[in-house]
Amino acid sequence: MSVAAAREPDMKLDAVRGRLAYGEPMSRHTHWRVGGPARLFFVPADRSDLADFLRALDPALPVYFVGMGSNLLVRDAGIEGAVVALGRAFREVTRSEFSVEAGAGLPCTALAKACSSWGLGPADFFAGIPGTVGGALAMNAGAFGGATWDSVHSVETLDRGGVVHRRPRGQYRPGYRQLDGPADECFLAARFEFETTPQTGRLRSLMAERRRRQPLNLPSCGSVFRNPPGSFAGELIEKAGLKGLREGAAEVSTKHANFIVNHGGATAAEIERLILKVQARVRADCGVTLQPEVRIVGGVPEAAP
Ligand SMILES: Cc1cc2nc3c(=O)[nH]c(=O)nc-3n(C[C@H](O)[C@H](O)[C@H](O)COP(=O)(O)OP(=O)(O)OC[C@H]3O[C@@H](n4cnc5c(N)ncnc54)[C@H](O)[C@@H]3O)c2cc1C
Repeated sequence: MSVAAAREPDMKLDAVRGRLAYGEPMSRHTHWRVGGPARLFFVPADRSDLADFLRALDPALPVYFVGMGSNLLVRDAGIEGAVVALGRAFREVTRSEFSVEAGAGLPCTALAKACSSWGLGPADFFAGIPGTVGGALAMNAGAFGGATWDSVHSVETLDRGGVVHRRPRGQYRPGYRQLDGPADECFLAARFEFETTPQTGRLRSLMAERRRRQPLNLPSCGSVFRNPPGSFAGELIEKAGLKGLREGAAEVSTKHANFIVNHGGATAAEIERLILKVQARVRADCGVTLQPEVRIVGGVPEAAP
């Protein structure tokens, strides 16, 4: 069934209490401001609403869990499945001694601020990562020498059958901007074990450093490529002379070469073609094949140049 044909309401989902939309444009939910419609888009009212939704859903329909879409390129054809976004109902953050329990919908910056006010860390690096705790867990997001899973004690997840699991850290293998572990589950919350850290004002200086180095005035998804072992993707892209390279309204940032910015009205196809061009040119220039850090979902891949 095409995404457009799927706008027919599904009666089995009538009982859900959260926001349910058919054919929701994903451009409203991604930082790049691009992306076609999701067949179903759901923001659950709370945990039990999410569990009810998953149980009522056709088991054959793929489900994609998202946070703030700050690391997502959704293709223009959209997503042939259900997209679940954890919103305000999943933003609790509580502390008990050195443990911090954070909902998967909590913005990373809010986690950094809460930990800073409690004198706990290391969590300053979360400041300025424009995603949720759930997205940070899935990506093992990190910056300035810190990474999400460095302090994770355990996580709570929900499976497709609507069953909650408390999973210890040992069930996951975090890597550089990636995570292996139980698949097809939604993160609901994480428990971090931190240490006491002095209040140094580092949080503010890290935010200032981001503003200085990154093109934060235009839509982007942060670093497009992972850093290859021993070097920086941005340096290789700059060395290949690709700053300012354009596909329509998508451009390799002139401020930070590992960012692709949307000057307004770019399509996902333009961004993907630019990603492929950068990959091909860097490979030709220095023999390194850059691997995307951004998650590309939906539709059909663009052809390589
Ligand atoms: C300006 C800018 C700066 C950035 N700086 C950094 C940085 O310094 N370091 C860094 O690591 N990243 C950075 N990013 C990228 C991005 O913010 C992170 O990857 C972030 O962790 C993604 O979180 P999100 O909530 O937006 O996830 P999304 O982009 O919505 O999703 C990313 C992945 O996580 C999965 N996911 C999201 N929520 C859940 C959940 N609850 N359960 C299961 N899976 C889930 C999705 O399925 C997807 O595969 C930056 C992005 C921008 C735009």
